This record gives sequence, C-alpha cells and structure tokens, in this order.
Amino acid sequence: MISVQQLSRVFTTDDVETSALNQINLQVSKGDFIAIMGPSGCGKSTLLNILGLLDKPSSGDYFFQDKRLRFAQQGQVERIRRQHFGYIFQSFNLIDSLTVAENVELPLIYQGVAASERAKRVKQVLAKTSMDHRASHFPKQLSGGQQQRVAVARALVIEPAVIFADEPTGNLDTRNGHDVMNLLAELNEQGSTIVMVTHSESHATYGSRVIELLDGEIVKETRQQPMMELARA
Ligand code: ATP
Ligand code: MG
Repeated sequence: MISVQQLSRVFTTDDVETSALNQINLQVSKGDFIAIMGPSGCGKSTLLNILGLLDKPSSGDYFFQDKRLRFAQQGQVERIRRQHFGYIFQSFNLIDSLTVAENVELPLIYQGVAASERAKRVKQVLAKTSMDHRASHFPKQLSGGQQQRVAVARALVIEPAVIFADEPTGNLDTRNGHDVMNLLAELNEQGSTIVMVTHSESHATYGSRVIELLDGEIVKETRQQPMMELARA
C-alpha cells in the first residue's frame, strides 16, 4: 500500500537543524494495524504526518500503490489525501457549528459525491461507529469518547485505503480510550488498514505490528497477534 525508503526529515528553525527522522524504511501493507511507539520527541508524529502526506520528507522515496510520488506535484498529493486517506487526531478536530452528520459528510462533499449517496454513506458509518442516535447533535453536546467516535466515522466515510491516527486516545479517560481502541480494532478486523501513534503500551497491544522509534530511527519491530483476536480465541 505505502512504502517509504531512506526517508529523512530535517527541520530548520533559526538556523538550527533538527534531524527528526533518519533513513526510515517501512512498508504499510493492506490489513496492517501498526502501532508506532517511542519517547516524546523521537519522531512519531513526523513519521505519521509524512506517511499520511501531511508533511514532506527532506529526502527519500515514497510509494503509494507501487507508484513513486512526486511531492512537487501538489495536485497528485492532494488527490491521494482526499480520496484514499482518513485522519484521526488527539483533539478530534470536529467543526463545532456543524452537526455530527454534517461533520461526517464533509469529506464526501470534497470528493464531489452526490447528495443522495452522501446521505446513505453517512448513515452507514454512523451506524458502524454506534453514533447514529446522535446524528443531529452538535460536537459540544457529546462526550469526548463520542466525539472521537464521530471523528472515526468521518475518517471512515470515504472508505480510505489507510487511516492515520495520532494518539487518538490522548484526550480520553481510560474507559473511553479502550472504547475507541476497540472500535479501531473492529474496523481493522473488517479490513481497514490503520497506522496509529500511541504512548500507551496497552493500546499498542491492539496492533498487529509495533514499531519502536528512538531518535528518529526504527529500533525495533514486533509482529504480534492483535488483542481482539486473543480475546476471542
Ligand atoms: P510526542 O510524543 O511528544 O508527540 P513525537 O515523537 O511525536 O513526540 P515529533 O513531533 O515527531 O515527536 O518531533 C520530532 C522532533 O522534531 C522533535 O525534536 C521536534 O522538536 C522536532 N519538530 C517537530 N516538528 C517540528 C517543526 N514543525 N519545526 C521544527 N522542529 C520540529
Ligand atoms: Mg507526537
């Protein structure tokens, strides 16, 4: 699905260079549930943002569906982002003046999907994320856990090739955190490919691959049976 080779990212602020990622090689395959872990400042968000095409590498190659991406062609980058990628953030990033259903509908409007089809798809994903009973509510009327479920629905509505999540449970209490993790695990079981950054060892157990970053380099990768499957076995 996605492959990056020799990927590096250097930030330059006031003539000071910070090497945030150093020669990363990584493949994201269909059906993966990748948990990226590591100490604060090790480059997790930088890696996730580049994989999700929200940031550009300083050097290295990026392949999407076996085609090498040219970052200079902004149109190509935007098209992949809009058509194939879904995003979930720690701070939910819902639009307060829009209802739950309208928030979830937005990515479909950007894609130019017809109104009747939009209504159908919004209904489907709200049912899938158990938020259909809150379709006409506004984000401020929901709990944090519910807001994140709406954000998951919004990421899901375009049927993305990959969902990127940067600490999706960072603003949630333990119970709501596990609730959102269970939802992500369920989606992964149904075929969604997920790349997630987490600080939590227990949340990393939901993933099928755990990648540990240290000072901008991958120092360890563990493949494991995701927790959902263990729970069922
Ligand atoms: P955290 O767990 O605290 O979220 P992280 O692993 O996500 O940390 P990154 O945000 O990827 O870390 O940052 C990696 C390094 O790059 C840090 O040293 C950070 O200061 C630096 N960095 C990140 N973004 C920028 C930026 N826009 N400009 C300059 N430096 C940056
Ligand atoms: Mg981060």
